[in-house]
Amino acid sequence: MTIAIYPGSFDPITDGHLDVAIRAAKLFERLIIGVYDAPDKPLLFTTEERVELVRQAIVNLPNVEVKSFTGLTIDFARKVKAQAMVRGLRMGADFEREFDLAMMNKKLSPELELVCLMANQEYQFLSSSLLKEAARLGGNIDNFVPKHVATALRRKVHSKM
Ligand code: ADP
Repeated sequence: MTIAIYPGSFDPITDGHLDVAIRAAKLFERLIIGVYDAPDKPLLFTTEERVELVRQAIVNLPNVEVKSFTGLTIDFARKVKAQAMVRGLRMGADFEREFDLAMMNKKLSPELELVCLMANQEYQFLSSSLLKEAARLGGNIDNFVPKHVATALRRKVHSKM
C-alpha cells in the first residue's frame, strides 16, 4: 500500500492545505495528515483543536486521516510506514525552506521520498499566519477556510481580545 504523510502546523487548516491534501489523496492509497505538536512558532490553537479542525475538514475524504505527532517528522513517517512525505509549495518563500528541510531529511532518512505539490494559483498567497492576522483585525476570512474553521477562528480571536 502506498502511504504518504502530509506534515505541518495547520494552525488552522486552510483551503490551501486542503487543496494539497485532496490532490495528494489521489496519488496515494492512504494519506496521513500529521499535525506537528510543537512547531518553532507561536500557535493560536492547541494540538487537540488543530487535529479536530483537520478531522472535520476531511470527513468526505475516505483515504485521508489525521494524527498528531511530536519529535522528528521522519520518525513519524517511519512509525506509520509512509514511503513519501507531501508538502505544498507556494511561489517564492516556501522553496528555500523546503529545499533545506529536504536535504536534511534525505540524509536522515534516505528511503523517504519527498513529493512537493505546487500550490494552486488561487491559494498562492494564503497562509495560516496571514489568515490569523486578518481574523484578528476583523477581516472576512470566509473565502479562505472551511466554514467550521472560520467559526472556530472568529471564536478564538474573540476570546483572546
Ligand atoms: P509548517 O509549519 O510545516 O510550514 P504549515 O501548516 O504552515 O506547516 O504548512 C504545511 C504545509 O502546507 C507546508 O508544506 C506549506 O508549504 C503548505 N502550505 C501552506 N499553505 C499552503 C497553500 N496556501 N497552498 C499550498 N500549500 C500550502
